Amino acid sequence: MNGIGLFGIITVCSTLVIFIVCIVLYCRIQTKRHFKCPHCGARFKVAGMRTFFASRQGTDRLLSCPQCGMNCYMENIPDEEYTEEMRRADAERRRQEEEEDGE
Ligand SMILES: [Zn+2]
Repeated sequence: MNGIGLFGIITVCSTLVIFIVCIVLYCRIQTKRHFKCPHCGARFKVAGMRTFFASRQGTDRLLSCPQCGMNCYMENIPDEEYTEEMRRADAERRRQEEEEDGE
């Protein structure tokens, strides 16, 4: 094998490795983040691989909401910003909505 061919293989391999490392790192970051639907306020987690290739706008990703089915840009929020207090407020709001639906 000549030098140019070897150089080409090294270039392709290192590009692939960098790409894979990027995806792995991105997936790890996404396990600590979630998305918020601007339409119904639902919060949900999506596998990192799915959002990596999704259309993006800053940190927002084009996804469909599992709760209302809305297809729009979802805000990507770190889990630590979603505090226990907010979680409780959301649970309370959901409970009230269910009660209203029951009537
Ligand atoms: Zn929604």
